[in-house]
Amino acid sequence: MRIKASLPAYKEIKVDLDPKSTTRELKKSICRQLNIEPELTKLLLRGRLLSDNSRVSKLRDIDGPVIVDYLWARHLIVWGLEGQQKIRSATVLLAGAGAIGNEVAKNLAMLGVGRLFFVDRDNVEMSNVSRMVFFEPKDLGRNKAEILARNLHRRYPYSETLAFRGDLETMPLKFYLDSDVVVCGLDNVVSRIYLTQICRKYSIPMVDGGITGLNARVHSYIPPNDPCPICVFPPNQYSQIVGLRNPCDAPLEQVTVPSFATSISLVSSIISQETIKLILGIGQYRQGAKWPDHSGQPLRSILFMDLKNNRFTPMELKRNEKCFVCGSEGTAKQTVPRFDLPISAIRASKEKMERAIRLAVNAEHGILMILSETSHGEASLGDKPKAIRSLEKGDYLRVLAETKNGELNESMIRLT
Ligand SMILES: [Zn+2]
Repeated sequence: MRIKASLPAYKEIKVDLDPKSTTRELKKSICRQLNIEPELTKLLLRGRLLSDNSRVSKLRDIDGPVIVDYLWARHLIVWGLEGQQKIRSATVLLAGAGAIGNEVAKNLAMLGVGRLFFVDRDNVEMSNVSRMVFFEPKDLGRNKAEILARNLHRRYPYSETLAFRGDLETMPLKFYLDSDVVVCGLDNVVSRIYLTQICRKYSIPMVDGGITGLNARVHSYIPPNDPCPICVFPPNQYSQIVGLRNPCDAPLEQVTVPSFATSISLVSSIISQETIKLILGIGQYRQGAKWPDHSGQPLRSILFMDLKNNRFTPMELKRNEKCFVCGSEGTAKQTVPRFDLPISAIRASKEKMERAIRLAVNAEHGILMILSETSHGEASLGDKPKAIRSLEKGDYLRVLAETKNGELNESMIRLT
């Protein structure tokens, strides 16, 4: 028996089934053909839910298709199944689990992002509850990243969440390297500089956002060649900027107004859409193609928003040759090439591992230092067969290889 099924405004398919089959089997066949998750799909007929256990023979004399009600069906009209699958397999790191972190995490989970990492050292305070959707009074005193990860996953179980409690600087590098996009929702300049350094060095796209009262700004940074978020700061003001850990620590005359729920949702909405654009387009862009039309162009200038006067002003950015991070003398002036290597190549023997790594990083002779980058942190591999054996797929090796000039060049290898 042949049954028509429709993902409205996207695709219509036909499925052949034995009339004795159940609608559960029908759903499985439809989902297999469309390549969508059956656990996130329901079937409807004339607006009514089809029960899993009824026989498909009952559909014999019914005109019109069975409607496939997939969780992200409406998205497919805009970026197709391929786009949604990219979003499902993406990992986003949210640096800062505060106002922007909460709201962006909600948006990204609703859009279907597969994995969300959170990092924050601060604990939930009462004044957060009025502005951060996943925090409740019972969470007071507990770490923001851990609470956000737990409460978000409870509400959106199809997004995996992971939290790191502490400073960005102490988080294992693997969490950064595993991320397709980094969202910066930090409230201090020192951490923003650190995050920008990591993103430039390892070529991880970043969406930076900030709020002061009813003013907000967003910037999408595509490293290594775009102007970075630190390029806007005049170099002669670094000492002043770096000394300012938090806007609330500023002298009284410079104290800024905190964020409001309205400015938070506005800026987070733009940050979230920018993140989706980067997930959808960065792969093709890196291979030399244009951004795909269906994703939209990322915002590579800074967009300033003034909710009080309803002004939305983009500001073009230029690379600052004296930038503290990406300038010619900047802390992240060198970018690190990244390679993949099968884990079997390093497990055979120490000699074979070294040969495979030298080949991968194009360093035939000279000093070679190999460090493992796992979720437990960094460790020297040296002569430690046990440490080599404990490496898993998805771990990284940081390789420092001597060049002809006697310098050490860094490369990053992901074990596949
Ligand atoms: Zn810069």
